Amino acid sequence: MSYRQATYDEPLLREFKSGATYEIPGTVGDAGSMIPDALVRKDLNIQDVAEYDVVRHFTRLSQMNYGVDLGFYPLGSCTMKFNPKYADLISSMSQFRDSHPLADESLVQGNLRIMYELQEYLKAISDMDAVSLQPLAGAHGEFSGILIVRKYFQDRGELERRTEIIIPDSAHGTNPASAAMAGFDVVEVPSGKDGTVDVEALKGLVSEKTAAFMITNPNTLGIFEHNIGKIASIFHEKGALLYYDGANFNAIMGHTSPGLMGFDIVHFNLHKTFATPHGGGGPGSGPIAVKERLREYLPVPVVEKKGNEFHFNYSLKNTIGKVSSFHGSFGVLLRAWAYITGNGRDGLTENSSVAVLNTNYIAHKLSSVYGIPFKKQKMHELVISSASTGKRAMDIAKYVLDAGMHPPTVYFPLILKEAMMIEPTETVSRRDLDEYCRILIEGAGKDEEELHKHPTSTPVGRIDEVRAARDQKLNWRS
Ligand SMILES: *Cc1c(COP(=O)(O)O)cnc(C)c1O
Repeated sequence: MSYRQATYDEPLLREFKSGATYEIPGTVGDAGSMIPDALVRKDLNIQDVAEYDVVRHFTRLSQMNYGVDLGFYPLGSCTMKFNPKYADLISSMSQFRDSHPLADESLVQGNLRIMYELQEYLKAISDMDAVSLQPLAGAHGEFSGILIVRKYFQDRGELERRTEIIIPDSAHGTNPASAAMAGFDVVEVPSGKDGTVDVEALKGLVSEKTAAFMITNPNTLGIFEHNIGKIASIFHEKGALLYYDGANFNAIMGHTSPGLMGFDIVHFNLHKTFATPHGGGGPGSGPIAVKERLREYLPVPVVEKKGNEFHFNYSLKNTIGKVSSFHGSFGVLLRAWAYITGNGRDGLTENSSVAVLNTNYIAHKLSSVYGIPFKKQKMHELVISSASTGKRAMDIAKYVLDAGMHPPTVYFPLILKEAMMIEPTETVSRRDLDEYCRILIEGAGKDEEELHKHPTSTPVGRIDEVRAARDQKLNWRS
């Protein structure tokens, strides 16, 4: 693709010749005098470009992108659902968008009310007792939650012996990362033949060293951990805590909850379950919820209501402190509030039902060609293996790209060979489900050489995966 060079024959732009440098007002003057001379930038050596070239450049880039507004996006584990436009509209209203994070509480009562109501909704959806909206992503919620585990045992004088967190081998990579970052040793528990935690193996791993168990339910294979009640008692009997990774909430809303399953700490991925366009790193929001005995440990501030007034409470007795600037991802909180009030209890419950139904529809259609491991009923996502077709998951994923659709997540979870993880969500038509299955089956039937030619229609062809992983350029100068 070629880009036309900017020309500078417009009268207003004529004096701004390409390559010229300009003094930037304000950097060397009064404000500049407060900055050490060595740090004051005297000129800015950037190329000047016409506005229309900048606009066209970014519009062109946006056209190379694929998103939920363009088509079906069944990226397993990510809950890429269509985001209703009313949620965007509300979060971009100037009354919200332009309010200042340092504004006096009396001036932003509406904002605080929405945050308070969202806390209440999340409590009700999860059957937990208290919520903090501070964390900025699922992984950030995990890290905050594990800091709570740490502080809780520190206060009880048990931290020295409680050094381990147990995590299933099917877990998302952020789980062991969060546990390790909070200073714990990670102990892996294997999955049994049916794809759920091997309870006998688990019993052998739990000891007085155990601080917590981290798990998502349904798990990353899309299977409900039916032994969760038993598992919770195993840990609680040893005085350990249970952490619920809420990334898979889309499967259970209104049907069951982490509170009912016996969990002590939970995070939500608002950008997955409760609508916000996400991908490519943001924006996200990962509120955490806890049971009563951990209420005072939550990150601050939390929003409280006295009479008809709302205010921030920064002084929880055992708080792990502040984990993000200001008040979390406010724009994402607004969308989640809009989505929850827009759907209502019945709507959210139905969304989960339809997400599960769509997944089982796909499982049924693909089972004639693909290996569908673990015979249990699928929840909101399923993992298939292309090994039974003799084709590589990567090759089939590239074939799907040329059909103008987004491929499944591939090679995750790590415990299954040639894994392809499909999460349709509730916002997909039967026509799209049928077409997707048709393409996956068609791809599996192509010969390998033919598959290696794909993709042909995307802006970027096959990349060197090994080099991308090993030879990273993390600095624009290198
Ligand atoms: C997405 C996901 C996470 C991490 O959440 P982020 O919001 O991406 O940080 C954790 N666990 C599971 C199972 C997930 O799917």
